Amino acid sequence: MSDCIFCKIASNEIPSTVVYEDDLVIAFDDLNPQAPVHTLVIPKAHHENIIDGVPAETLAAMTHAVAEVARIKGLDEGFRVISNKGEAAGQTVMHFHLHVLGGKPLGEGLI
Ligand code: C5P
Repeated sequence: MSDCIFCKIASNEIPSTVVYEDDLVIAFDDLNPQAPVHTLVIPKAHHENIIDGVPAETLAAMTHAVAEVARIKGLDEGFRVISNKGEAAGQTVMHFHLHVLGGKPLGEGLI
């Protein structure tokens, strides 16, 4: 999508701090980190959210990318993965993304 900021990051039209990349996905550091490690994993193809027809191959690639992010960032103690779907859940960028958060104790709550 031409006006999608994450599509522009995926195509390198907008620069980002890339942590991991393969044919299907790219992972980059969040511009407004909520934890010492806050990396976003996105599909290169545009899907609005987690239930917007994302192919199984892409979902598998995203899971692999989460593991790579955890390895590269040294998240041996654990990490949290969050995906917001819809404005009511707090989604602000309408291109599917996984937040990978870690680097400090995150507590027991979900939010
Ligand atoms: O789940 P949500 O849609 O709110 O998350 C969007 C995330 O994308 C935010 O954490 C925001 O900081 C990040 N972002 C970014 N670079 C941009 C625009 C948004 O890292 N250019």
